[in-house]
Amino acid sequence: MTNTEQLYTLFLQHPLIITDTRKILPGSLFFALKGEKFDANTFAEKAIEAGAAYAIIDNPVYQLNEKYLLVDDVLTALQDLARHHRRQLTIPVIGLTGTNGKTTTKELINSVLSQHFKTQATQGNLNNHIGVPLSILTIDASHEMAVIEMGANHQKEIEFLCGIAQPSHGLITNVGKAHLEGFGGFEGVKKGKGELYDFLKKSENPQVRKSEEQDGSGIAFINRDNPDLIEMEQLRGLQNVVYYGKSSANNLVNGEIIENSPLLTLKWANNHTGKSNLVKTQLTGAYNLDNILAAICIGVYFKLSDEEINKGVEDYQPKNNRSQIMQTATNTLICDYYNANPSSMQVAIENIGKIKADRKVLILGDMFELGDEAAAEHTAIIQKAMETPVDQRIFIGKEFALAGATMDHGPWTMDKNVFFDTAEDAVAALKANPIKNSTILVKGSRGMALERLVELF
Ligand code: ATP
Ligand code: MG
Repeated sequence: MTNTEQLYTLFLQHPLIITDTRKILPGSLFFALKGEKFDANTFAEKAIEAGAAYAIIDNPVYQLNEKYLLVDDVLTALQDLARHHRRQLTIPVIGLTGTNGKTTTKELINSVLSQHFKTQATQGNLNNHIGVPLSILTIDASHEMAVIEMGANHQKEIEFLCGIAQPSHGLITNVGKAHLEGFGGFEGVKKGKGELYDFLKKSENPQVRKSEEQDGSGIAFINRDNPDLIEMEQLRGLQNVVYYGKSSANNLVNGEIIENSPLLTLKWANNHTGKSNLVKTQLTGAYNLDNILAAICIGVYFKLSDEEINKGVEDYQPKNNRSQIMQTATNTLICDYYNANPSSMQVAIENIGKIKADRKVLILGDMFELGDEAAAEHTAIIQKAMETPVDQRIFIGKEFALAGATMDHGPWTMDKNVFFDTAEDAVAALKANPIKNSTILVKGSRGMALERLVELF
């Protein structure tokens, strides 16, 4: 059996880790992770043939020669290796979790910090029990700082991921209604995400203690305007907290939206220097204020200049249909169909209610993974949509249709408010009744694949 120390020695010589044989590069280390439908042990030989230096496997049947390293369990070996690697690094690692906005905030933080430091950050959305170790293992001796996204849909997951990433600094973007099934309701979400604060309080990374001259605990960046996060902080008695928000004398950074049309312009103040800044962003959605302020706050904390921070924020363009603006011949689309849950739906609807536009349309798809709360949450979103000043509302999916059927709302018509059981039905109706000259929010859970609608606008 190969142990973590031995694997680490090999990793230092072969730092590129691959888990997909189609992406093997010469000299890489292939970790044969088990998938739902396949056992990657069976691909180990292919990986070696394609040039991998070693294949890490957990079934002796596939151990053909000394290039095949046998471990008890490949996933555990990967996680142990990442944990061990992190312990050797003396750089700050910013860990972030939260219900909404993790990837956006991670990208913004990275865009800001990379104006001054050589940074490494989670690629895309690799934020789970495999993605976090893989992200940690991309950090090398040249990096001065890392930003690691941690996702969770049940208790103890963040605790486990913190054990691997060992963040010296942490941020919970917010706590909201998502993965209610797995977490056991909203209180469960607070407990589960709060595991990051628990970890910062203990801080296990000895190098962090030396470099930060703190009492041994990590530093939490907290949005002072979020009462849930303040409650979670107070419950744990966190000592090392840096605040940001709309306005408070004790915040390191204060900021507000000056314009939302539909891209945001912000005014923010650096309370270190007392200087005030205007920054034009490429983001839409009032909720992105929190994400941007978090990144600015972290930039100020790590002593970047205001100019560097502004450039980092201005440069960032949202990707992968996370509140991305698309201009078509006749409409402005807010493409937000990357995902959806009750909290992000609420703020997205509020936002379109507030932005400047002549004609506004909501196209909302079902929210998944809500367990027993699905009916109530879909009802609440319909109510919110009905109260919001928009011109047309289109609800798509079985959950919305079920919830809508029980509500008293007058007749439904295509040009005002309408329900469809499936996206296919909606496509047919929209082809017959095209939308023109409108700002359209399109948002739903990933499984609804609302991108199917976009070509119609
Ligand atoms: P995932 O859980 O899939 O990793 P995430 O937390 O990384 O998601 P993002 O990918 O950054 O989140 O954003 C997804 C969507 O969440 C955005 O398109 C937007 O609709 C919404 N969102 C982003 N930031 C916030 C926020 N601060 N509050 C509420 N909703 C937000
Ligand atoms: Mg994400």
